[in-house]
Amino acid sequence: MNSEFGTTAWGRDWQRLAEPTSLTRPDPALPKARSLARRDHVTDVELHPGEITAVVHHSGSHRVRVDVPVWDGEHVERARELVTGHGDDLPDTVHSTLVRAGQPPAPQPDVVTASCDCTGRKRPCVHILAAFFEIARQLDHRPRLALVLRGVEDSHSPPSTARVPIGLLDPTDFYGEPGR
Ligand SMILES: [Zn+2]
Repeated sequence: MNSEFGTTAWGRDWQRLAEPTSLTRPDPALPKARSLARRDHVTDVELHPGEITAVVHHSGSHRVRVDVPVWDGEHVERARELVTGHGDDLPDTVHSTLVRAGQPPAPQPDVVTASCDCTGRKRPCVHILAAFFEIARQLDHRPRLALVLRGVEDSHSPPSTARVPIGLLDPTDFYGEPGR
């Protein structure tokens, strides 16, 4: 059962990065990775344009870093216009509009790079997979973060703090930039 991850189109993108449908055999580390995220063993998640870092607690504490390309100015503007008037809780229809416009919110798997400081040789390791699941869960809760990750910073709508996971982001970085 993994229905708690990817309950929105925004989170599903990252669930799919962890569980690519192209795999003929599921990665044996996936159940463990899901369990780590579910049991809040992924902490200190920080999301910035182009970068996510997190600490995963399993066989020690390991720092995971995920890099994704940010959009260019034109794409950022287009996405910003599209989400104007929406709060943090962007509906899946905004996601599908972006996909139809040829600007899917999720980076393609081949441009996502992830690193972990563990000594395991397997990549992605269980820590990276756990971080992907945690990212999926957090984007389900706050879809707008999927756009922040691609470079769309928004200073117009105040954060709704009700469901902000602790440590998810630095509010000064997220909202501190003057809007245009
Ligand atoms: Zn690792």
